[in-house]
Amino acid sequence: MSQDIETRCLHLPEEEEQRELMASHGALSIPIYQTATFAHVTDDGYDYSRESNPTRAHLEKIVAGLENGCDCVATSSGMAAIALVMELFTPGDIVLSDSDLYGGSIRFFQTVTEKYGVKVVNRPLYRDYTVESGTAAVYLETPTNPMMHVTDMARIAESAHSAGALLIVDNTFLSPYFQNPLDFGADIVIHSGTKFLAGHHDVLAGFVVTRRPELAGKLRRLSVTTGAVLSPQDCWLVTRGIKTLALRMDRAQENAIAVANFLLERPEVEKVLYPGLPDAEGYAIMEKQARGFGAVLTVELKSAALARGILQHTHLIKFAESLGGTESLVTYPITQTHADVPVSIREANGLNDRIVRFSLGIESERDLIADLKRTFDEAEE
Ligand SMILES: *Cc1c(COP(=O)(O)O)cnc(C)c1O
Repeated sequence: MSQDIETRCLHLPEEEEQRELMASHGALSIPIYQTATFAHVTDDGYDYSRESNPTRAHLEKIVAGLENGCDCVATSSGMAAIALVMELFTPGDIVLSDSDLYGGSIRFFQTVTEKYGVKVVNRPLYRDYTVESGTAAVYLETPTNPMMHVTDMARIAESAHSAGALLIVDNTFLSPYFQNPLDFGADIVIHSGTKFLAGHHDVLAGFVVTRRPELAGKLRRLSVTTGAVLSPQDCWLVTRGIKTLALRMDRAQENAIAVANFLLERPEVEKVLYPGLPDAEGYAIMEKQARGFGAVLTVELKSAALARGILQHTHLIKFAESLGGTESLVTYPITQTHADVPVSIREANGLNDRIVRFSLGIESERDLIADLKRTFDEAEE
């Protein structure tokens, strides 16, 4: 029986852990093997760090374990992970993508993927589970960024698989602590490790996880070939960050729930989009497929001026791009993360200039609420 996820944030399975300890003088913190190449004095399989490196191998095993996968490839950023996965497709392939996604993913599909003759079709998958036969893959996030739509993964996996398509899920928003898409039929899970996994706003990283050995082999060969691997130093930082993933996620989620409830009471607020609110559209599906609701929430204010006022007046909560770290952030999707998303897609998703997105960190709930109270007062002056 495998250990609980809190334990797997820190430890590999016993035999594996013992093997690593024996190879590194018992160092409890994985050494940073800062080397490009390896002299052929052992037969432990290390040749060159683009192919594999012991610091990276440790982190990859940890993340594969957290996602219940058989293998994981660590990449130099979340976008590098997405680019790697898209290398699986060939000209003429059709990828069905959710229409509400991280803005960088939409930009990548439109400017890079399409250039290589792979057609990307956008559709709001949370409302329409149809997958045409002959589709090569279905790509989604749940909850989506930033509109928090929730897609039933088991249901879309069934449609995808009967159409002969792979299901690819970007699980960045919930992290493996709260959700494991492979358990609900996903074939590939992607992470921007920059966010909750590393968790401290200090490093970029990405992961691709699968439990299908043939896909794992293909992805690994593609990663060695394309080369956007995670450096040993950065692997160490992410490994260090993951040790506290469970503690950070629980705390950040408590803060998100407190902030969501505070915002619901404010007259300046039109809508709070957080799947952990019992009357949220996706609540019932979340209950089925996730162990938590995460720490990202989107707010629609009554006016664009109020939205901009909030960005200007928060002190403790920083106006900055990104999410999933120890420090709370607020962003303005329309000019930041989603600036390059075509207006037609933005409008169809309901993404407008009254929307701000919060990512709650691990500060005290009292201080966060005090910051927001003062912000609203100043934003209205
Ligand atoms: C940030 C993010 C990415 C891109 O990851 P980087 O590490 O910034 O390259 C992809 N997907 C989601 C959901 C993200 O939040």
